[in-house]
Amino acid sequence: MSPREQEDTPTSGSSPSHLSTTECPAHNGNVPDCDDKRRINEDDDRGREKKEVEEDERSSDEGFMGMTPLLQAHHAMEKMEEFVHKVWEGRWRVIPHDVLPDWLKDNDFLLHGHRPPMPSFRACFKSIFRIHTETGNIWTHLLGCLFFLFLGLMYMFRPNMSFVAPVQEKVVIGMFFLGAILCLSFSWLFHTVYCHSEGVSKVFSKLDYSGIAFLIMGSFVPWLYYSFYCSPQPCFIYLMVICILGLTAIIVSQCDFFATPQYRGVRAGVFVGLGLSGVVPTLHFVISEGLIKATTIGQMGWLLLMATLYITGACLYAARIPERFFPGKCDIWFHSHQLFHILVVAGAFVHFHGVSNLQEFRYTAGGGCTDDGSL
Ligand SMILES: [Zn+2]
Repeated sequence: MSPREQEDTPTSGSSPSHLSTTECPAHNGNVPDCDDKRRINEDDDRGREKKEVEEDERSSDEGFMGMTPLLQAHHAMEKMEEFVHKVWEGRWRVIPHDVLPDWLKDNDFLLHGHRPPMPSFRACFKSIFRIHTETGNIWTHLLGCLFFLFLGLMYMFRPNMSFVAPVQEKVVIGMFFLGAILCLSFSWLFHTVYCHSEGVSKVFSKLDYSGIAFLIMGSFVPWLYYSFYCSPQPCFIYLMVICILGLTAIIVSQCDFFATPQYRGVRAGVFVGLGLSGVVPTLHFVISEGLIKATTIGQMGWLLLMATLYITGACLYAARIPERFFPGKCDIWFHSHQLFHILVVAGAFVHFHGVSNLQEFRYTAGGGCTDDGSL
């Protein structure tokens, strides 16, 4: 019997109506006290009957552990309210991987230190300043985002006289900064609100993946622009190809299955493949300009370093190294996702360095091109 039913159940024999019926005569209009008592008794009887009917109805609806479904729902709501209140106040504790709901289970080599589901954006954003499995993921890309924002603004406000075609070049280089800032901001936002709820985590994971495609597409624009400065036709074709491939990757990443842990390798493969599509224009450049020009003017060394950083990051991410070898030891710091984040920021910076070298070469060489279309 539930506490509520105990409260509601009348205690038989102790009711005043039982005692008083014997104390009053059948009818005595001259005794107002008894009339009042009789009225009270009648009311009590009606009330008791009503309670009995209610009780019957309730007992027929009794669910698990003697609780009515309504009562169970009420208890669940109370617990939920209490939990939300705790989360709101920031009084939550990190939890182990095995008690996470399925939609929050991503990497089973990170044994402890996970945030619980917190259906409050305020609580999610406050968790940026707490230590848990996502702290490093959030800060690596939050700081990276601020860094590229600062760098981008610096570049945009550079005096126009350092460019051959200032507006065009700033738009082209701006594409890289836009891609980098979108990628890094979608990423830190995703890692921040990932534990909000299943729906929110799905929406933001799709934005996170789309951000990687934006970074890759944005990185291609200034690189192709300067590398094929004197050959606009191949430049245009390569730009079209990377846009189509990038948009395809964005469309694929909108599918729900793409974000699941089983597709980790596929995800890494899609974005490495998108980046590696740059091998074709690179070979084109090497064949038409020669290896020496490609390594000096073409910044091939920096491009190679950038590719190495990105691919290493993707491999660590897909294979979940190092936590695979030390389960539970990299829960908070130095797990694969964090290293991948750091390598993405490093790769993007190396790419920017290569692109700014290409820009500098164009400035010193001037806007003119030779008749054969070489640099
Ligand atoms: Zn991430």
